[in-house]
Amino acid sequence: MTPCDPQASELDPENWEDFRKVAHDLLDQCINHLSEAREHPWQPVPEEIRASYAIDGSSMDAAELSRRLVKEVLPYATGNTHPRFFGWVHGTGLASGLLSEMVAATMNSNCGGRDHGMSYIERAVVSWCQQVFGFPETASGVLVAGTSQATVIGLAAARVRALGPELRAQGQQNNWLTAYAGASVHNATSKAIELLGIGHNNLRKIPETDTGMDHDILRARIREDRAAGARPFAVIGTAGSVDLGRFDDLNGLALIAKEEDIWLHVDGAFGAWARLADAPWSNLVDGIERADSLACDFHKWMYVPYDCGLILIRDEAIHRATFAARPSYLAGQARGLAGGDPWYCDYGIDLSRGSRALKVWTALQHYGPEKLGQAITRNCEQAVLMGETVSNTERMQLVAPVISNLCVFTADTLLSAQDQSRLNKHIVQELQLAGEVVFSTTLVDGITCIRAAIVNHRTTRSDITASIAAVARMR
Ligand SMILES: *Cc1c(COP(=O)(O)O)cnc(C)c1O
Repeated sequence: MTPCDPQASELDPENWEDFRKVAHDLLDQCINHLSEAREHPWQPVPEEIRASYAIDGSSMDAAELSRRLVKEVLPYATGNTHPRFFGWVHGTGLASGLLSEMVAATMNSNCGGRDHGMSYIERAVVSWCQQVFGFPETASGVLVAGTSQATVIGLAAARVRALGPELRAQGQQNNWLTAYAGASVHNATSKAIELLGIGHNNLRKIPETDTGMDHDILRARIREDRAAGARPFAVIGTAGSVDLGRFDDLNGLALIAKEEDIWLHVDGAFGAWARLADAPWSNLVDGIERADSLACDFHKWMYVPYDCGLILIRDEAIHRATFAARPSYLAGQARGLAGGDPWYCDYGIDLSRGSRALKVWTALQHYGPEKLGQAITRNCEQAVLMGETVSNTERMQLVAPVISNLCVFTADTLLSAQDQSRLNKHIVQELQLAGEVVFSTTLVDGITCIRAAIVNHRTTRSDITASIAAVARMR
C-alpha cells in the first residue's frame, strides 16, 4: 500500500484490505438473496425500519454500513424479483446486473460525451437495437431513464421536424400543434405533450378496439383539425398498451403518417420486445421499422435492472438539431479525451449520464438475444395459460383477450359490478400482504379487475396455475 498523503481526504477506505473483506461478504449476501428470490416476496417496511433510515449526521464504518444494508435495506424491495410478481410491468432484473453495476461503479464514467470506453459500449448497444428494430444504420439513439423520458425526446424531435429548429429560439409561438394516439395511450405521452407546452387537450384520443385505434376516425380527426387551423405533428402508435396489452397496426399507422406528412412515434415500452419472441407474438410489432421514433425500455421486458430505456430516431439530423448545443467548454476536439462522436448530450436532455449501456451490453453478451427472446416467448405462453386457467375456473372470467403478456380478469362474475370490484381489490391486497402473489388492478367497463403483467423470467407454469388457484381460494 502506498503511504497516505496527509493532504488527501479520508473518503477512500483507510484500509483497502478491510474494505475488500466487507465488500466480498456483501456480494455473497446479495448473491444469496438473488439466488433465493423465491423466498423474498414483497413485504411492507416496518415502522422502526423506516425510522432507522433518517440521516442523523453520524458516520459508520464499512462493516456496520454493510450490516445495515443487508438487514434494513435489502429485504424491502418492490418484490419484482419474485417469480410470482405480476403486478404492473416491472422487470425482474438479471444476475448479470450485479456484475455490470460493480464495474460501472468502479469506472464512474460520465457518458454525456467524450472519447472513452463506455461511449463505444453505448454505440454498440444502440447499433444492435437499430438492427433489431429494422432502423437504418444512419439512425441515432440514446439510452435514457425510461420510456417516459424517451417519449419527451421523440416528440421534441417530431416538433422540430414540424416547426423547424428555430423553434428552439422562438418557442412554439402561436402554432397550434395536435397529436393523435389510441384511447389507451400511456400517461407518459400526455406528460410529454404537457412538458413540451402543447397541452394534453391537443393529444387527440382516438377510439380503439382490441386491434388498436380506428384508422378512419384517426384520418377524419386529422382532417378536421387541419380545417380548424391546427398543425397535426405526430401520431403515437402503441406497441403493447399498459392496461390490456393492445397493439396498434403499425403498418397502417405508418401509411397514414406518410400520407399526412406527420411523424410516427411508437411507444413500445415493453411490447416492442415482442420483436425477439417467436411468432405469432413477434408479428404484433410488424411495421415498427417504419417509425420515425421508437421509445422502449430495457428494464421491463428485457429484464435488465432499473433504470434503462431507449429512444431511437430515424433521422439523426433532426435528432441532433433538437438537442445539440455545446457551450465552448464542451467543444469537441480532434484528438484526446474531448474527441469522439456522437456525444450523447447532443441527443437528449441530460449532460451528465451514468453507464446505463453496460447493464444492457452485459445482458446481451452473457445471455444472448436468443435466450432473452425465449424468455419473452415463455411469458406470452404463460399469459395464454393464465387466460385458460381463468376461463376454466368456475365464475372467473377474462375481461379482455390475452394478446401478449397481459391477462385481466374478474374473480366472480355472479356478483354485481360493485361487489366484483370490492372482491377483486380485496383479493389483490390480501395476496400481496400474504407474500403469495402480486397482481395489480385496473378498471375495465366500470369494474375494478385483477391484472397480471407477466414480464418475469423466473415465473414457471406452476406459478401461473398456483396464482389463479390462490385467487379462487380467496373468494
Ligand atoms: C411503462 C410504460 C411507459 C413509461 O415507461 P417508464 O419506463 O416507466 O418511464 C410508457 N408506455 C407504456 C406502454 C408503458 O408500459
